[in-house]
Amino acid sequence: MTAVRQITILGATGSIGASALDVIARHPDRFAVAALASNRRWENLLELVRRFQPPFAALLDPGAARELEAAAKREGLRTRVLTGSAGLCEVATLPEVDTVIAAIVGAAGLPSTLAAARAGKRILLANKETLVLAGALFIGAAREAGAVLLPIDSEHNAIFQCLPPSTAAERGPAGVRRILLTASGGPFRATPLAELERVTPEQACAHPRWRMGRKISVDSATMMNKGLEVIEAHWLFGCAREQIEVLIHPESVVHSLVEYVDGSVLAQLGNPDMRTPIAQALAWPERVAAGVAPLDLAQIGTLNFAAPDPLRFPCLELAYGALHDGGSAPATLNAANEVAVAAFLDRRAGFLDIAGVCAETLSRLPARRVESLDDALAADDEARALAGRLLERQALSA
Ligand code: NDP
Ligand code: MG
Repeated sequence: MTAVRQITILGATGSIGASALDVIARHPDRFAVAALASNRRWENLLELVRRFQPPFAALLDPGAARELEAAAKREGLRTRVLTGSAGLCEVATLPEVDTVIAAIVGAAGLPSTLAAARAGKRILLANKETLVLAGALFIGAAREAGAVLLPIDSEHNAIFQCLPPSTAAERGPAGVRRILLTASGGPFRATPLAELERVTPEQACAHPRWRMGRKISVDSATMMNKGLEVIEAHWLFGCAREQIEVLIHPESVVHSLVEYVDGSVLAQLGNPDMRTPIAQALAWPERVAAGVAPLDLAQIGTLNFAAPDPLRFPCLELAYGALHDGGSAPATLNAANEVAVAAFLDRRAGFLDIAGVCAETLSRLPARRVESLDDALAADDEARALAGRLLERQALSA
């Protein structure tokens, strides 16, 4: 009988958090929730605290943490509530915790995910931004502390499953010719280019295959998500930029592929449901049920593949360029994108401004070395400020 894994979920109230808790709740003999953490939506977290009764909860926002603490007390719940960045790092490094699910959205996930790596935890990584901002630093810290990295981003989890058995961080691309990352192409794969200027946040968030948080949904529509995933794959699997290709596959059934030098191509298939990669990583190297419907290929009938159109998806090229430039360039790109996506979701910017602001921010900020968490956060800050100014100027001139 295996010991029950004690799990911290960073980003528990999000879309990945919900999928992870669904899988965990199916296997109380294997998994227990030690801590749940999120940003400020304390009522959502309270609901989860009621249901899972973890020893710890953490909210970044101190006011929200006080509300949660008071409500938990009123209800006689014994959960201890922590707050601030220190609180998030504490639940990511608790000695009794062996597994941390890193599912905060955006660059905000970096400090706690890095803390988990330094503490040698088994990390189920959804927060790709950690690798985009500080790939070398994070992989180095994980290796040094013996942290096991298990990707749950569906494409990277697929690649992980198609590579020989060992953990992601230990892998080199031996015998691998290429990695093929599949992408659905998002909701605007076939929208006439001239209409892209006017698409709304609602249209951008209506993803044809996956139900996800709003930020990553917009990233899927611009394909910046795939660009960030190219960078993520580079760090996770030690592949050169030239070995990583993107393939549009609208059905989202083939989650990614690995091509070997002998011509063999291995793929992982399944219904588009994040519970599959999460269950695979939670139970690894074993397997557990995830509640996902079996794949019915006869019913699906046809699978399509196409090369991405660089005119439609300029963000993809920007990400390859940032990976080429290295240093702080990926952090700059990520920060500019976060600012531009937030503005788009707020209707302060148009859809095409996202790629425009990212390109302009990258071109104005030369890549610098990233050797510490502070270096990564400084690059993130600087790019956020510049992207914000560019958006303001644009709004004034519009
Ligand atoms: P959501 O927007 O659904 O959830 C975000 C979570 O992060 C919430 O719990 C939110 O808390 C928390 N959060 C936001 N900002 C902060 C902060 N500053 N400090 C602490 N917590 C914060 O996002 P998703 O679940 O869609 O995505 C999470 C991550 O997983 C992203 O990195 C994304 O790229 C990645 N991913 C997601 C996939 C998906 O299917 N959704 C697929 C593959 C990868 P609160 O509720 O309080 O705001
Ligand atoms: Mg993905």
